[in-house]
Amino acid sequence: MHTTRQDFEQYLCQTYAPAPFVPVSGKGAYLVDDEGRRYLDLTGGIAVNAFGHAPDFLIDALTKQAKQLWHVSNCFTNAPALALARTLVSRTFANRVFFCNSGAEANEAALKLARKHGRARGATKILSFAKSFHGRTLFTVATGGQPKYSKDFAPLPASIEHLPLGDVAAFDAAMDRSVCAVIIEPILGEGGVVPVDCDFLQHVRHACDAQGALLIFDEVQTGMGRTGHLFAYEATGVTPDVLTSAKGLGGGFPIGAMLCGIRAADVFGVGDHGTTFGGNPLACACALAVLEKIDQTLLDNVRAASETLRAALSALPIIKEVRGKGLLLGAVLADAHADKALHFVKCAQEEGLLVLNAGNNVIRLAPPLNIQKEELKTAWTLLQKASARFLAD
Ligand SMILES: *Cc1c(COP(=O)(O)O)cnc(C)c1O
Repeated sequence: MHTTRQDFEQYLCQTYAPAPFVPVSGKGAYLVDDEGRRYLDLTGGIAVNAFGHAPDFLIDALTKQAKQLWHVSNCFTNAPALALARTLVSRTFANRVFFCNSGAEANEAALKLARKHGRARGATKILSFAKSFHGRTLFTVATGGQPKYSKDFAPLPASIEHLPLGDVAAFDAAMDRSVCAVIIEPILGEGGVVPVDCDFLQHVRHACDAQGALLIFDEVQTGMGRTGHLFAYEATGVTPDVLTSAKGLGGGFPIGAMLCGIRAADVFGVGDHGTTFGGNPLACACALAVLEKIDQTLLDNVRAASETLRAALSALPIIKEVRGKGLLLGAVLADAHADKALHFVKCAQEEGLLVLNAGNNVIRLAPPLNIQKEELKTAWTLLQKASARFLAD
């Protein structure tokens, strides 16, 4: 069947405004559209394609599993899910893992778990932060700190409070025995690539310990090697009770996970929560292959590439500040160009370069973790060209 970009307006719910071209194939950091145009892709499918497009080792892992077993339901367990869970537990703070299909589902599981954990002592309140993003289910839009995502869907789940990020006094005023969980992204992703101060995270950790609340780190965007660590918490000096992962976990195959430390590991019992596709063998085989590729060599590449891209972004005349860590970088537009991030995204596309925005004022990069020197050189050139085009418009 021949399709065109116009079909999007006719046949798809208009929840997105995708680029004017249709990608048809990709390899590594490059994407090709339906007119044969090639783009250097620094979006990584929004921090999903940890090893770029169609990496050979993932094609192998997926096709090997596809010839063996696709789906069995949770009436059975399966070898890829067991191997993935064991590997996640051995490489993190976690004691147990729950598998699902997306970041929102991982957070939904974590929030439900927290409510159940707090139930016996009547603790229901969830503390969250302004500008945070946790997904698009009703519970996760209500928990996220961006009212634009929840305003049309009331009545929302109750007993959720949003606090200014990093404000110790506001946090202390809200934190009491009625709190069942605090949920936080170590670096706000969608909220503009905003790193959270480690001292604040420590403060939150101590307060959770004192009040018996669970600390949930949403590492859907920051996890799986993205910041130069397997998970970002490793560099904060703070260990959460629950950590959620998705995006990069399957390297492009949909999968989410909730990792549970000792206080959370036995909260859910048989029948408390579930999902048809969670722990699917195809998804778990991909995630296991991805996890095995995240070694010190790869993390070193993330850190080195980060320095190069940070320098490239800082050198642009339209940028006033570069934030973030590893290969999750946010470049803040100078005041003269405020709120024109989407315009930059468009100029970059016209130069054959794909970048993301994070809000209206930040250009976000989340390229493949194994991005190569040659591709970084090209990125530098194309960023300059996109910036020049942006200034000329
Ligand atoms: C993308 C994202 C989510 C939502 O993940 P989905 O797979 O889109 O449901 C949740 N939290 C953070 C931090 C994210 O970046």
